[in-house]
Amino acid sequence: MSRIYNFSAGPAALPEAVLKQAQDELLDWHGAGVSVMEMSHRGKEFMSIAAQAEADLREIMAIPDNYKVLFLQGGASSQFAMVPMNLMGRTGKADYINTGSWSKKAIAEAKRYGEVNVIADTAADFKAPAESDLQFSADAAYVHYTPNETIQGVEFPYIPDTGEIPLVADMSSTILSRPVDVSKFGIIYAGAQKNVGPAGLTLVIIREDLIGHAPDSCPAMMNYQIHADNGSMYNTPPTYAWYLAGLVFKWLKENGGLDVMAVVNERKAESLYNTIDDSGFYANPVDPECRSWMNVPFTLANPDLDGKFLEEASAKGLKSLKGHRSVGGMRASIYNAMPEEGVQALIAFMHEFEKANA
Ligand SMILES: *Cc1c(COP(=O)(O)O)cnc(C)c1O
Repeated sequence: MSRIYNFSAGPAALPEAVLKQAQDELLDWHGAGVSVMEMSHRGKEFMSIAAQAEADLREIMAIPDNYKVLFLQGGASSQFAMVPMNLMGRTGKADYINTGSWSKKAIAEAKRYGEVNVIADTAADFKAPAESDLQFSADAAYVHYTPNETIQGVEFPYIPDTGEIPLVADMSSTILSRPVDVSKFGIIYAGAQKNVGPAGLTLVIIREDLIGHAPDSCPAMMNYQIHADNGSMYNTPPTYAWYLAGLVFKWLKENGGLDVMAVVNERKAESLYNTIDDSGFYANPVDPECRSWMNVPFTLANPDLDGKFLEEASAKGLKSLKGHRSVGGMRASIYNAMPEEGVQALIAFMHEFEKANA
């Protein structure tokens, strides 16, 4: 059988080397005699796994010392609430940029906690707003945006400059895809299941001065301060997911870090977009300036062929290419764990399918 390439948007493919190491260590972690899954989160073995994962992430992303890294649960969707619960009270207002499906969910959730100003809305246009069009409210407690809209495949080509206003980013589907200047952000959060590790873990990278502003009514589990004060161990953390994320961070370090990831990811995306643009058979709806490196939606000239495309692709080992129902067509998610050969195999199949069906 030919090799399987998994283009799932999330939970997404993990590096094969990471899965193999997890398999090797599954029953007995480093001679501890038990699986990581069975360890106390407060024991010295797991504490060392947790600390190493954080140290490696800090190194890979060059996270400044005045930021805390939290390993939480609840997914990015919980952050949609946690961000306003902790920060909105400072002025009662926040600015949001709407670029697609995930921005919309973040906006809807924030409205429960205060006044939401949608300062730019390009959700229907498959592009990010022009930087010059952004006008921030002087009294916004923060500005929230989605650097990469996983469903629409729309990625910001710039980081908004919000001056003194904290910038909050839902980086679920673009974190670790390239180097990013963390100091430009107040909070970066990400569900792990796209580019970090398995589902069940949520990363929050938060500037220290943004911790400690939650009202008394804020539940402990939703309060950044509680998690920061307890080293993300106020309650039982998602230990196995934390461990696997740690293996992914090690894998990233061994493979050249985010500088190398950026080069490879750009090359993978570019070759796929070129294939789409050079054909009259495939199309991508996104403004070329704002095309995602991670999620590449594309449609066929004749949507009646969608089912046939998916079936034949799957038979060739190219899995999970069905597009999100709100966009239709196909979507190839090509996170760090997708090797270049996987993208090349998809491109070869696309040429073949076009020749047979155009
Ligand atoms: C997947 C995704 C989410 C939702 O993440 P959960 O962890 O399922 O809550 C939110 N935002 C973006 C950008 C995503 O890609």
